[in-house]
Amino acid sequence: MPSAARLQAYQQIQQRQPVAVEASQPLATTWADDVFTLERMKGALPKAVFKSIQRSIRQGSKLDLSVADAVAQAMKEWATAHGALYYAHVFYPLTNLTAEKHDGFISPQADGSAISEFSGKLLVQGEPDGSSFPNGGIRSTFEARGYTAWDVTSPAYLMRTPNGVTLCIPTVFVSWTGEALDKKTPLLRSNAAMDQQARRLLQLLGETEIAPVNSSCGAEQEYFLVDEAFAALRPDLRLAGRTLYGAPPAKGQQFDDHYFGAIPERVQVFMQDVEQQLYRLGIPAKTRHNEVAPGQFEIAPFHEAANVATDHQQLIMTVLRSTAKRHGFTCLLHEKPFAGVNGSGKHVNWSVGNSSQGNLLDPGDTPHQNLQFLLFCAAVIRGVHRFGPLMRTAIATASNDHRLGANEAPPAIISVYLGSQLEDVFSQIQSGSLSGSASKALMSLGIDTLPELNRDPGDRNRTSPFAFTGNRFEFRAVGSGQSVAGPLVVLNTILADSIAWVADQLEDGLKGGSSLEEAGFQVIKRTMDDHGAVVFGGDGYSSEWHHKAVEERGLENLRSTADALPVLHRPEIRELFERQGVLSPVELESRFEVYAEQYVLAIEVEARLALRLARTQVLPAVMAYQRTLTEVMLEQKHLHQPVTPEIPATIAEGIGIVSSRSTDLERAIKSLPESDPVAQMRYCADTLLPLMEALRGAVDGLEELVDDNLWPLPTYEEMLFMR
Ligand code: ADP
Ligand code: MG
Repeated sequence: MPSAARLQAYQQIQQRQPVAVEASQPLATTWADDVFTLERMKGALPKAVFKSIQRSIRQGSKLDLSVADAVAQAMKEWATAHGALYYAHVFYPLTNLTAEKHDGFISPQADGSAISEFSGKLLVQGEPDGSSFPNGGIRSTFEARGYTAWDVTSPAYLMRTPNGVTLCIPTVFVSWTGEALDKKTPLLRSNAAMDQQARRLLQLLGETEIAPVNSSCGAEQEYFLVDEAFAALRPDLRLAGRTLYGAPPAKGQQFDDHYFGAIPERVQVFMQDVEQQLYRLGIPAKTRHNEVAPGQFEIAPFHEAANVATDHQQLIMTVLRSTAKRHGFTCLLHEKPFAGVNGSGKHVNWSVGNSSQGNLLDPGDTPHQNLQFLLFCAAVIRGVHRFGPLMRTAIATASNDHRLGANEAPPAIISVYLGSQLEDVFSQIQSGSLSGSASKALMSLGIDTLPELNRDPGDRNRTSPFAFTGNRFEFRAVGSGQSVAGPLVVLNTILADSIAWVADQLEDGLKGGSSLEEAGFQVIKRTMDDHGAVVFGGDGYSSEWHHKAVEERGLENLRSTADALPVLHRPEIRELFERQGVLSPVELESRFEVYAEQYVLAIEVEARLALRLARTQVLPAVMAYQRTLTEVMLEQKHLHQPVTPEIPATIAEGIGIVSSRSTDLERAIKSLPESDPVAQMRYCADTLLPLMEALRGAVDGLEELVDDNLWPLPTYEEMLFMR
């Protein structure tokens, strides 16, 4: 029998009725209904104005104020017709959250009346009181304030609550001196860098008509749903997003009966609600299913331009969280909410392409397209080998550390999986009888004899952190709660840098008199010679790989965020971002500071919480049980029954261990180093986390011994297996 509070929660959950929303509408009537789409703009704007905004969107040219005024007018009319009284500049600070600055359209008039007003100036520029956003010292060094500016490539939309509508405008957030204070600005810059280099390479390959190249992203979002009534009784879930205590359930995920199983009805009702909202927002939700762990699910939208996909991804997280609440759930986006159970990731599917050449990571049907594909692929391989540690840094958070390298999650060692067929093509070119008498080699391994590359290589490797999946790469180590901006910035930037190298090499080869094919093959061979060590098709989870990767291949295993973030201080990283015009040294340093601070803060909060829970919830429960056991023993003695001292002795011992480990943790929390972020991170990783783990071990042991009736925290069984 569970404790009274848990029982009450259980009953509350049992009695809950599904929350009905309007029955699903045909897609045509709801799709992007709340988005100020290009179509809507076209209908509302004079032709010349529309042309001008279209140009800004396509080429990133600056919006002039008269155009902005006209757009603002049209946007306001559309929004107010839908009932909007307020507008918000939405921006993406260096936390993984979405921030908003709301303002009313209201403009009081001299005669006491009020009208709605919105100008181009208000559209393109807002001034959030951003001093409380983490900025890593940028604004104290430079200017006191930051401002937001509409990102014309991401459309405005309406957010609805039961009591009103707000016009939301996606913006960049920069300081007055132009430093990026957000995650969107570097993403736009990284895309521009990649575009520039990709076009250069395409030109070398003989293309004449080359449209702007853009990166695409489709992010598969995993999440857990836990009943709110249970979560309410777990301060760790509420404050840290993960369970700091909890014994493993008797039934784990070993039955594999959840993955792709029938979705429980109350969950499906929730999903349908989410999807309807997403459709209104023009977000192409495409798949839904149960994930591997009990209580774990996935939603994946169709891929879109990286910038828009990133904004949409933030919206998906927001909608998941708010909708879960309405349905009596808490949506957990933490990477490892439950120890010993699969964690949640966000698989970032990424490719680059344009409207003239198509997807540049797609093998294509002709030998020419194949060469183009192989060169872009080679650039990716080189980028990952040179900057794998940076990719690790882009996914480094306190919460994702629990997942990487744990149950069924990609390791922290960054390697590339190509699939056996593609790997074979690359190694054939590498073993390249190509050098020396190139023309002869070309005959045996000529471009015409390249095997037809299959778009669906079939063999999937789930253990790789970064896998080629037919026409894109899938960065599988990204955390479920993260913004995808950071990982995309890194991918675009390292690709830009490597394409530049490929183009340089190709140019040299062509100047030296090689044919395009010969020169191309030489670049691929060199890439494999110098960077092939990063290609790995085996079991990434195995300890053998962990050893081999580091000892033989020279790859880095950056286990924790404390190991990974200092990578941002390496000269080659600073140079990379500066060379590609993505982040200045100051901007990069600010990111290091903010992320380090977030890591330390997250662990400090967890440590305090672990201590408090142990002392105020666990120990009292265990001591109450001890009291009962003592009474039983006294009674046994009194009635001359055989006395059973073993259980009371184990309990007494457990109490001793929990108290002493709590004291250790308390002391450790007090001696966190003062200012040096690197030392602080190390201390968190090497001292605080192990102490918390040790305390947890003792607490979880007691959970399995103490009278269920006294245990205050909802158990793993209750939270994970409620249908
Ligand atoms: P799986 O679960 O098998 O990995 P899904 O079909 O669930 O695959 O999700 C794959 C994701 O990859 C989707 O978001 C899809 O739109 C996206 N995707 C497909 N092709 C591309 C591409 N060329 N570039 C980027 N993303 C893509
Ligand atoms: Mg998937």
